[in-house]
Amino acid sequence: MIPFTYTRAHDAAEAIRLGADAATKYLGGGTNLVDLMREGAERPGALVDVTGLPGAIEESQDGSLRIGAAVRNTAVAEHRAVRARYPMLARAILAGASAQIRNMATVGGNILQRTRCAYFYDGTVRCNKRTPGAGCDAIDGFNRMHAILGASAYCVATHPSDMCVALAALDALVELEGPGGRRTIPLTDLHRLPGDRPDLDTVLGPGELITAVVLPPLPWAQRSTYRKVRDRASYAFALVSVAAALDLAEDGTVRDVRLALGGVAHKPWRAERAEQMLRGRPAGTESFRAAADAELAGAAPLRDNAFKPELARRLITAVLGELMGDAA
Ligand SMILES: Cc1cc2nc3c(=O)[nH]c(=O)nc-3n(C[C@H](O)[C@H](O)[C@H](O)COP(=O)(O)OP(=O)(O)OC[C@H]3O[C@@H](n4cnc5c(N)ncnc54)[C@H](O)[C@@H]3O)c2cc1C
Repeated sequence: MIPFTYTRAHDAAEAIRLGADAATKYLGGGTNLVDLMREGAERPGALVDVTGLPGAIEESQDGSLRIGAAVRNTAVAEHRAVRARYPMLARAILAGASAQIRNMATVGGNILQRTRCAYFYDGTVRCNKRTPGAGCDAIDGFNRMHAILGASAYCVATHPSDMCVALAALDALVELEGPGGRRTIPLTDLHRLPGDRPDLDTVLGPGELITAVVLPPLPWAQRSTYRKVRDRASYAFALVSVAAALDLAEDGTVRDVRLALGGVAHKPWRAERAEQMLRGRPAGTESFRAAADAELAGAAPLRDNAFKPELARRLITAVLGELMGDAA
């Protein structure tokens, strides 16, 4: 057994003071961190429980929604404003894990959950994310679930969160507080591509705490959805997932679009190339497919996941088609 201390923080200042030591980890619902501690992939000397930090879901006058980091995943998915104004987010959360886990899991913990790459969990094989410089046995191993975009010779792991794919598509902002003060960054800038430092999942500094997520106003996101393809109908991580919102002009051209992919990269993948191709173009299967082709042009599949680029193309095309149908 690895000994560790447990302290419950009552506010962000107390959490940050307690979290200043490099051996300390913040504890949300514990549904990922505790598993990783059992497997020996995480070995914190101290846990600071941040589930008691003040936090709620607040609607601002400007139409944005601020979600405290300690809010449970179920509470976000069931919130009236989330379901009405950002349906892709509610759907993404409900596509993940199980009801019991969603009841425990927090927003902060979901964002910072670690990869589900089996090689990261298995202490008997090589993993640069667990032990920098060790090598990566996933690259030539069983890599059906792994990355096809933005991977490196050091790491082919994917980010597992469904919620984060919707947050990336919605241009969510993440509020952070740490020993150096407060800052707010786009969610799309929080997670890193692996490069030669796959042990660093994010750009967070030492002791930095997520305090909230802000969803900017996006009235047309009422027409949005999330679709996840996986090996089992429930309780499985995404092979590929798509979060999409579509704003159509009267003449059937795409006024605006948001697209993000899950299950394909080390971070939630905002499909900017596809979005750019679609804005101002006629909506339809042909333009959706062309945009998907452009986004996946740089895909580099591995031995066991050569199906993923075509799956992603078909999923993008189908989901946008579904949203276009809603507009009719
Ligand atoms: C069987 C199973 C199936 C699952 N299936 C899915 C799935 O299909 N889709 C999906 O998206 N997820 C899935 N999950 C993962 C689940 O969503 C995560 O375990 C959960 O969201 C993590 O939240 P938590 O609050 O329990 O985080 P914790 O486990 O408490 O923490 C996770 C990480 O976040 C850090 N942390 C927590 N809060 C903060 C904060 N406020 N500031 C800074 N750091 C913080 C911790 O230090 C830790 O590193 C599954 C999990 C299990 C066990």
